[in-house]
Amino acid sequence: MKEIWIYSETREGRINSVTYELLTRALDLKSKINDSVIAALLIGHDVPREDKEELIKRGADKVYYVDDPLLKDFVVEPFSKVLKELIEKFKPEIVIAAATTQGRTLMPYTAVRLHTGLTADCTGLDVDEEGNLLQTRPAIGGNIMATIKTQTRPQMCTVRPHSTRPAPADDTRNGEIIDVFVKLSPEDMPARKIGRINDESQEVAIQDAKVVVSGGRGIGKPENFKLVYRLAELLGGAVGASRDVVDRGWIGYPHQVGLSGKTVTPDVYIALGISGAIQHLAGMQTSRTIISINKDPDAQIFKVSDLGIVGDLHEVVPLLIEKLEAMKDEIQ
Ligand SMILES: Cc1cc2nc3c(=O)[nH]c(=O)nc-3n(C[C@H](O)[C@H](O)[C@H](O)COP(=O)(O)OP(=O)(O)OC[C@H]3O[C@@H](n4cnc5c(N)ncnc54)[C@H](O)[C@@H]3O)c2cc1C
Repeated sequence: MKEIWIYSETREGRINSVTYELLTRALDLKSKINDSVIAALLIGHDVPREDKEELIKRGADKVYYVDDPLLKDFVVEPFSKVLKELIEKFKPEIVIAAATTQGRTLMPYTAVRLHTGLTADCTGLDVDEEGNLLQTRPAIGGNIMATIKTQTRPQMCTVRPHSTRPAPADDTRNGEIIDVFVKLSPEDMPARKIGRINDESQEVAIQDAKVVVSGGRGIGKPENFKLVYRLAELLGGAVGASRDVVDRGWIGYPHQVGLSGKTVTPDVYIALGISGAIQHLAGMQTSRTIISINKDPDAQIFKVSDLGIVGDLHEVVPLLIEKLEAMKDEIQ
């Protein structure tokens, strides 16, 4: 059987939900590669059994679990040693990790040691007729999308977080949890975690929000962002932005959605005065429902929208806000 591996990232000893997005990718690949199974690789210490079972419920046929007190926190050297040994032992065809700080550190470190190729920050994965992995990612400064094949094995890649939805849980699924032993010693630990400090300047929760309301150049001037904020507030959502307005200094970079910003997959994405450049679409087109307001009926954003309003946002948004405020008053 050909094994498709996903690296199950943990944070503070629990599985990070980005792992379930990798299972969505792996399930799609499994449906296209004959005789393949999905294995989740879990490296850590005292990871609860329910987390391992969750991997199976969400699509893994088996879970390889390596436990050691030295693996409690992510440190690249011992994690890479474990990953390399397991790859050499079980010979997976494909290894996918999230393009998070952890995945972006672990995967290249390990790929070099295995003398195999790695495609970083993919936004699309597919297979060709021979079952080789087709890895699509932006190239040449984001101006084109390149599809890359790896000649060596395993085929390793990292995938952009939030570029797909997490695989749903199915309680009826069965799978195997396999404990694997890898010998580690204190010499494998050149570093030790002593604490964690969050970068508060980056803490704009657009990636976890169920509703994102984004403003683009059509907003007209920075003060008009108050409309975007008010609409987002009434909908219980977060505020996003196009790069154009970030570059103009109308709003901070942590709000930027797109290729060189964040990727979001909310239930509802509302684009106000955004044209829909390919680099913006790359960060939001997998949203469940897309609503756009733009005065240009030919704007690209309408091509990916479920609901498009052709009009001046300075007329439409205040009306929307008024209606939502009235509804809120009725509920209270
Ligand atoms: C390497 C690279 C990376 C990039 N990364 C990103 C990225 O991460 N995110 C990103 O967003 N862009 C990115 N870009 C930039 C991208 O190409 C576009 O320039 C940018 O998305 C345009 O932003 P915009 O839609 O706000 O502005 P514009 O393209 O100028 O569009 C403004 C829109 O507002 C409409 N409008 C104007 N007035 C009104 C009104 N009163 N009411 C309603 N509609 C109105 C107009 O019809 C127009 O469609 C990148 C570019 C490159 C080359």
